[in-house]
Parts: sequence; structure tokens; C-alpha cells
Amino acid sequence: MTVLRKEPLITELEIKVRLGQMVLDLARDLRGKELTVIGILRGSFMFTADLVRLLYINDIHPLIDFIFVTSYVGTESSGEMRLLRDMSLDVKGRWVLIVDDILDTGRTLLFAKNYIQERGAEQIHTCVLLDKPSRRIVPIQADYVGFSIEDVFVVGYGLDHNGKYRDLPYLGVLKEG
Ligand code: 5GP
Ligand code: MG
Repeated sequence: MTVLRKEPLITELEIKVRLGQMVLDLARDLRGKELTVIGILRGSFMFTADLVRLLYINDIHPLIDFIFVTSYVGTESSGEMRLLRDMSLDVKGRWVLIVDDILDTGRTLLFAKNYIQERGAEQIHTCVLLDKPSRRIVPIQADYVGFSIEDVFVVGYGLDHNGKYRDLPYLGVLKEG
């Protein structure tokens, strides 16, 4: 059995402050571009929502869409990725900001980046809330990283464990209990 550790790994306030900083970097690089934000479901829904609200304050008004990418059922180790739900928008010729919750082995982000490249995006930038560099299997780095963390299993702020905890406004850690 796993239980949620009482103390947050990253508090709601810490997330707010860090997102404020990240958006300044994003605004510097992306203002004035024909921007489309593509969130990777499901984990990035909360991060994406908060990010675009901050972009709005910085006078950046992207189109927004989502893709649903998953690894083949029960074969996490095989590393094969599959597109469960395509985006609706045409990204041809556009600047795309891919947003994901966490960069772990790197397979999801690499798959999404290649896919959006194939669809004709002009420029692709990648943004993740969390990065676990020690877990990387495929060579990819995100252009914008919220927090670099140790190899712990994180939930909350969109991230789940068996579908639970996505609603937490902060990031917590699961422990055996
Ligand atoms: P990657 O393809 O980089 O290995 O994995 C990325 C996906 O694995 C993330 O989008 C997320 O769905 C899941 N993942 C990786 N690490 C964690 C974690 O610590 N907690 C949760 N809830 N999901 C994780
Ligand atoms: Mg994810």
C-alpha cells in the first residue's frame, strides 16, 4: 500500500513563484510568434492551465490544444509510445510550445517532439514542470524546467497514482505505508 507523505515536496506557493519566473523566460523567447501551446494529457492539464493564464498577463495569446500520449499498456519497459488522441489544430508553420508534467525517461517528450515536427511546426520549444535527470533513457532535455528533482514518485498538481491525487494543488510524494 502506498500513502501520501504529509509534507509537500513542492508547495502551492513554490509552484506559483516558479511559474512566474518561467513565464518571464517564455515571454522573452516567444512573444510576437504565432504560438500554439500543446499540452500532453493527462498529467499536464493543471500546469498548462496555469501557464497560459500567466502568458496572458504577459500579453501572449497562444492557440491551445492537447495530445494524449501513452506507453503501450503493461509494457512500460518496452518504451513504445502511442498517440491516443490527436490534436485538432494544424501546427504547420507555427511555433509550438509542448508542455508536459514531468520528464522521466524522456520517451514521451521525444515522441511528442518528433510527432509535432512531422506535422510541420516551424519551431518547437519544450517546457516541463518537473525533471528527473537521473532517470533519463533517451537523450532529450527540456528548454524550460520548473524543478529538477530526485528519483521519487510524485503526485498532485495534475500527476496521478492510479488516477488519484491529480486534484492536489501542490506536489507530494508517495511512500509505502
Ligand atoms: P517518460 O516518458 O519521460 O518516461 O515519462 C513521462 C510520463 O511518465 C509523465 O508524463 C508521467 O505521466 C509519468 N511519470 C513519470 N514520473 C512520474 C512520477 O514521479 N509521478 C507520476 N505521477 N507520473 C510520472
Ligand atoms: Mg504525462
